Amino acid sequence: MPKERPALVKEGADFIKVMGSGGGTYITQPRLSYFTVDELKVIVSEAHRHERRTTVHVLATQSIIDALDAGFDCLEHVEFVETDWSRKYHPEIGTRIADSGCWVSPTIMSGHRRLQRLLVKRQVESLTSEEQALLTSLKIKIATNFETVGRLYDMKVPMVVGNGRNQRVWRLRFLVWS
Ligand SMILES: [Zn+2]
Repeated sequence: MPKERPALVKEGADFIKVMGSGGGTYITQPRLSYFTVDELKVIVSEAHRHERRTTVHVLATQSIIDALDAGFDCLEHVEFVETDWSRKYHPEIGTRIADSGCWVSPTIMSGHRRLQRLLVKRQVESLTSEEQALLTSLKIKIATNFETVGRLYDMKVPMVVGNGRNQRVWRLRFLVWS
């Protein structure tokens, strides 16, 4: 007997986005995966059965690996946050992304506004130790994101521009590199 259509499909969702890790939402953890690979596989196969594409919010390095194992159509952010909060691009995972054929929505502007505000403030007054720590972590986040996008672009990974919210979709290579 056919199962009932999922609620999101009934409500008209064009695609299904999954929070594969925390981050970007209140009290969530960007360094941790939020689903098992088996759970992700069920989500992807159910979405595909209903002819919906799937995209997944992946800040944690492990969540990127899990999303590739599950077969998502698109990866959002791809920020390589480690469990100890450090950030590091992993070439072997980058190669897996390129080989998978999935798209990437890297949201590389994330953090720039906060960084600019801190740099402006630093010109007129000294930063608190918390602000200084935030400034350092934003610089690392942005540098890692730029490295990731550059490496993926070199491997011809198809990309879209996104900010994690409602956004018109363009091919990044035409927007940035043309
Ligand atoms: Zn997201």
